[in-house]
Amino acid sequence: MIKFLDLKKINKKYQEELKIAANRVIDSGWYILGNELKSFEKEYASFCGVKYCIGVASGLDALKLILRAYIENGEMESGDEIIVPTNTYIATVMAIIDNGLRPVLVEPNFKTYNLDSNKIESKITKKTKGILTVHLYGQISIDDKMLDLSKKYNLKLIEDAAQSHGAVYNGSVSGGIGEVAAHSFYPGKNLGALGDAGAVTTNNKSIFEIIKSLRNYGSESKYIYKYRGFNSRLDEIQAAFLNVKLKYLKNEIEIRRKIAAEYLKKIKDKNILPKINDHNSHVWHLFVIRVKNREKLIKSFKKNNVETLIHYPIPAHLNEPYKSLKIGNYKKTEIMSSEIISLPISPVVSIREINIICDLVNQHE
Ligand SMILES: *Cc1c(COP(=O)(O)O)cnc(C)c1O
Repeated sequence: MIKFLDLKKINKKYQEELKIAANRVIDSGWYILGNELKSFEKEYASFCGVKYCIGVASGLDALKLILRAYIENGEMESGDEIIVPTNTYIATVMAIIDNGLRPVLVEPNFKTYNLDSNKIESKITKKTKGILTVHLYGQISIDDKMLDLSKKYNLKLIEDAAQSHGAVYNGSVSGGIGEVAAHSFYPGKNLGALGDAGAVTTNNKSIFEIIKSLRNYGSESKYIYKYRGFNSRLDEIQAAFLNVKLKYLKNEIEIRRKIAAEYLKKIKDKNILPKINDHNSHVWHLFVIRVKNREKLIKSFKKNNVETLIHYPIPAHLNEPYKSLKIGNYKKTEIMSSEIISLPISPVVSIREINIICDLVNQHE
């Protein structure tokens, strides 16, 4: 069986260190907002090349708290519009709607899968306050055009960096390119905890201070509340695990790059492969190809015990709770979601397994 993602095997490599970290937290008697978190926030901020990092409970919370912080800071208000890609994980869209803001969907470039910066300007109105762009599958979605637009129209450039830990565009690292970024450490992400966890990174001091307060009930000091906040803290035990795993992230990214290079070389039909934009260093959270007759390929994978997944089978606007978003024509996104398929990629996939997968793809017609 070639698993899509073997988390047990991935974490097994670090088992001894993870146990020591867990024991350290248990012995410390301090389980929330302590030294493990402080140390992770410092290391991760430095990894992203920014001044501030705030650990939160999940990637979704990171996105929600970012938008809430702009609202608290008087920079956004209910009914304002946020540009967002049609083809993202549902959390990105949810965070906008849950804050009373309006998602304005824009289709991606169908080769890179990332938000198409050429399609943004025509969607900008007086109400547009931000671009929430997603570095989908591990490639930075920001380019010079998007940076220029955000300056020209005074839009907040927000990164959903849940899939792109360590990716680089033009020398800037994921999480340090826009004004503020949301990160997820869901177990299956490239930097994964052993439970839920997330973070916000930024160089903006006032946004940093507001989010730091919002994650802890909106308090600035104990029992004194400045905002209506949330309970969204990153537990000490998860921070301790992340402190271990962060040390190996660069190495794991290198292994992912080697696997991606094998796929890019061995899959014969180059038209179905993902495209890497100029000046980009991809971290391959997912390796996604596009095929006709997808069901047939999935059947052949199943017959040969290869697990694959689809990210994502149904775009946000076609899901029941988000049907009100179906105001535009997103036909290309709908076609794309019927053609994409994610092949196994992780630090524990072997070259032998990749060869099997490539043979099956090459036999497909
Ligand atoms: C995983 C993910 C999220 C949400 O992260 P959680 O930690 O699961 O809440 C948000 N956006 C994208 C693009 C993701 O892949």
